[in-house]
Amino acid sequence: MDSDNLAAVLHSKGDLRLEQRPIPEPAPDEVLLRMHSVGICGSDVHYWLNGGIGDTVVKKPMVLGHESAGCVVKVGSGVTHLKPGDRVAVEPGVPQVMDDFVKSGRYNLSPNLFICGKAPNDGSICRYYTHKASFCYRLPDNVSFEEGALIEPLSVGIHACRRAGVTVGNSVLICGAGSIGLLTLLVAKAMGASQVIISDLSADRLTKAKELGADCLLAVKREDVPEELARRVEGMLGGMPHISIECTGAESSIQTAIYATLSGGVVVLVGLGAKMTTVPLLNAVVREVDIRGVSRYCNTWPLAISMVASKQVNIKPLVTHIYPLEEAMQAFETTRQGHGVKVMIRCDKSDQNP
Ligand code: NAD
Ligand code: ZN
Repeated sequence: MDSDNLAAVLHSKGDLRLEQRPIPEPAPDEVLLRMHSVGICGSDVHYWLNGGIGDTVVKKPMVLGHESAGCVVKVGSGVTHLKPGDRVAVEPGVPQVMDDFVKSGRYNLSPNLFICGKAPNDGSICRYYTHKASFCYRLPDNVSFEEGALIEPLSVGIHACRRAGVTVGNSVLICGAGSIGLLTLLVAKAMGASQVIISDLSADRLTKAKELGADCLLAVKREDVPEELARRVEGMLGGMPHISIECTGAESSIQTAIYATLSGGVVVLVGLGAKMTTVPLLNAVVREVDIRGVSRYCNTWPLAISMVASKQVNIKPLVTHIYPLEEAMQAFETTRQGHGVKVMIRCDKSDQNP
């Protein structure tokens, strides 16, 4: 067997290295995967530049990456639903304890989650990676590995739209046209939203949103006043949106989302911003606008895969760059500079076709 397990390892703040790691053995309930495609998430870049996120600090070298798809090469002794050769998408968060959150199906809220690529756990930007078999989902032949890797951020969009209760005929404001906002746009349309307006500071991102089916574009400038932006949203839609899904974390954008939402509607906060944020809470209270959080996702992989396989969503245009694993540093730099939308790392050296 191959002995090359090149991996993107973060040692400390700013110190990301490509280095060899031993190929792990799968435990009885795990599979060994030959990784094919791993997307770079904003949080991976944050780890690299800051040596951690919030209270989660890198104390020992760790492999980055959690948006991934690969091919099963070996199965643990207890694994029956997968076999070598199966192509799978990886759900990174695996519950470790059968607590009340897991029992009720909201396993994303369990305090006992193993999360691939979250310190101190190794991630999947490497040649070979082991993962719990029950959190690896087979990909149909018509779903590519790149799409398989995008199931992770697509899941954030699905969970956000579920939390918002998006349904047929809704008008929806999405704040931010990064990969999360754009995937949320695709999901909102697929779930029946009749009109989606999406905001961003970047003209390029808004152009992408238009290509992906946004009905209206809200070009935001840093100096814009949230209440005025909310009035512009109302004017463009011909009424206030039932739902706003905030995907930037920026304080002013959260304020816009609250002001813009129709009374009795829902604001879902996906973007992760400052620890303390000033919001027009009274405005939400007196208009009965519900504010809901999002913590990643749960129970989304099968749905996400079938949405992609059945072409209810076309997520391929999100991928703007593909780098071989050997060029992972350039891939991280491209993401840091905000070029394109989704930067992918091709970890499988036997498939280097773009
Ligand atoms: P991104 O940086 O690629 O996209 C954010 C977009 O917001 C950018 O295009 C930026 O130009 C735009 N933006 C910034 N300020 C703005 C403003 N005031 N008005 C309008 N647009 C503005 O990030 P992403 O990968 O798409 O992730 C989006 C957010 O979601 C991040 O905060 C990320 O941490 C968060 N996130 C949360 C979860 C969760 O479980 N809650 C999961 C994944 C990502
Ligand atoms: Zn991520």
